Amino acid sequence: VSEPYAVLDWLPDATVVVGGDGRIRHANTAAARLLEADAAALAGRPVSDVLRLADDEGREWWALARPFDADARLLPRMPETDLRLRTPSGRQRPVTVTAARRRGDGGIETLVLSLRRAERRHRLDAARSDLVSTVSHEIRSPLTSVKGFVKTLLAKWERFTDDQKRQMLATVNEDADRVTRLLGELLDVSRIDAGRLQLHRQMVDVAAVARRVAERLDVGDESRVRVRLDDDELPKLYSDPDKLEQIFTNLIENALKYAEGEIVVTAAVDDDSVRFTLADEGPGIAAAHLVNIFGKFFRPAGERRTGTGLGLYITKGIVQAHGGRIWAESTPGEGSRFHFTLPRGGLELAGIDVPSRR
Ligand code: ADP
Repeated sequence: VSEPYAVLDWLPDATVVVGGDGRIRHANTAAARLLEADAAALAGRPVSDVLRLADDEGREWWALARPFDADARLLPRMPETDLRLRTPSGRQRPVTVTAARRRGDGGIETLVLSLRRAERRHRLDAARSDLVSTVSHEIRSPLTSVKGFVKTLLAKWERFTDDQKRQMLATVNEDADRVTRLLGELLDVSRIDAGRLQLHRQMVDVAAVARRVAERLDVGDESRVRVRLDDDELPKLYSDPDKLEQIFTNLIENALKYAEGEIVVTAAVDDDSVRFTLADEGPGIAAAHLVNIFGKFFRPAGERRTGTGLGLYITKGIVQAHGGRIWAESTPGEGSRFHFTLPRGGLELAGIDVPSRR
């Protein structure tokens, strides 16, 4: 490889240098990898045979763009274009192509093409449009219900009994809450994604937080949540009390919603962290889903209970912002256990000198 081309091998993007005769002079390492070929074997071959580029409609790019047509309007730099590259193994890869060309006396002398793999971007775009459609759907269904009930009430107020009216208004109230909750969750998600989740830390009695949440949520006919946290054992943790409340709320709410029987909250104190565990007696979570449940908008196919799939994603974001970890275990049929850790040593972090508890 002659010296001026050798540096091209340092570039992460596939780069191909083509002569005025349309034959490849050099393909860098990334290009060879993309084209599933040996760099040396590519040299000398007609570029349009090797780089089989087509637009979204399948039209051949070389015929469309005619980069070797050296007419007066020709721009030295060709605009960035999203294309598909067909590789020798028959795969279609999305690529973003840019090209620069130099004219000599007899027309185009050199064409340099750069191909950036666009799969990641495509995935991001797809994830973004998924998010928009999920969010639109999640907002539209409660709004449709609000609109329907309010419209009916306004039109036929006299015809309903007080009880019926109260029931409709209760539904409207719930649906409005759902939208508010979703918007709150989305804000949390965007803060977590941007790394801007703010914690207002103080020394927190976590047992008290957990008990408060359990009391607020455990309102069914029979009490199901058992908070078994030992106040003497459990150190206070330097953390954000509202955010801890959110963690317990999400995990306990999920257990009440998706599991059955008792939900037991315990903790194990370590030298440098406390591990909290929520164990339920529900149907459990399939192994294939365990890795996904902490993902954004993840809900198992066919999940009928209402929800957005954001709760565990946010919970994980909050735990991680505190410097902790969260994971789940489950034996299908025997319930699930959600564990999360929170680091100890809060007062030292806060710059307050305390004697060790041990
Ligand atoms: P949402 O509850 O809004 O669907 P989450 O992120 O909180 O979102 O939960 C994601 C999925 O994980 C739920 O849809 C549910 O299928 C599953 N899941 C969460 N907690 C439990 C649990 N304790 N037992 C069984 N499945 C659970």
